[in-house]
Amino acid sequence: MNEPTMSAFVAGPGPVQLGQEAIAARVRELGAAIARDHAGQPLHLICVLNGAFLFMADLVRAIEAPLTVDFISVSSYGSRTESSGEVRLVKDLDQSLKGKSVVLVEDIVDTGLTMRYLLQYLEGRGPRSVKVAALLSKPSRRVVEVPVDYLGFEIEDAFVYGYGLDVDHLYRNWPFVTSLAGERPA
Ligand code: 5GP
Repeated sequence: MNEPTMSAFVAGPGPVQLGQEAIAARVRELGAAIARDHAGQPLHLICVLNGAFLFMADLVRAIEAPLTVDFISVSSYGSRTESSGEVRLVKDLDQSLKGKSVVLVEDIVDTGLTMRYLLQYLEGRGPRSVKVAALLSKPSRRVVEVPVDYLGFEIEDAFVYGYGLDVDHLYRNWPFVTSLAGERPA
């Protein structure tokens, strides 16, 4: 007899599905690459809240090197689902970037407009270098080219959620990434 499932985690019906093990394996690889590329440098990871909080938490534990962390939060003007490129700083950094080797940790690069704003903002604060780590990228949606130095997964154009990403503030605690079947919610 089948046991009824007690799990509240229900995968969406869309095309993008990334399981816990696949994510964990990729995050381990990214962590090793970041550690290798920044050996001996003052490594400083900046998490873009809220979507990157789980990726950040796993990524820092996959980096076997001394590092510091900080958090930034931005919100995009425009409709809820389409980035306008006008970005507002909601929570600023707490620490100086002077002389630090920064890795900016983002959940997903979609149009690239948020990332472009963040990179310009960080570059103005005197870091030694700035690299980008993104869990997901949707290259078919790109409006501006931005570098993604450490990419988890390239995905097709579907609205994804779980593992930090939300739908209306929900589902951030899903331990996997899943997606909606059709359009992103209006
Ligand atoms: P961009 O400025 O690159 O268009 O948008 C970046 C931000 O839009 C991401 O940090 C994320 O908050 C949000 N975003 C873009 N695509 C998705 C998606 O498929 N799912 C969710 N939950 N958020 C997304």
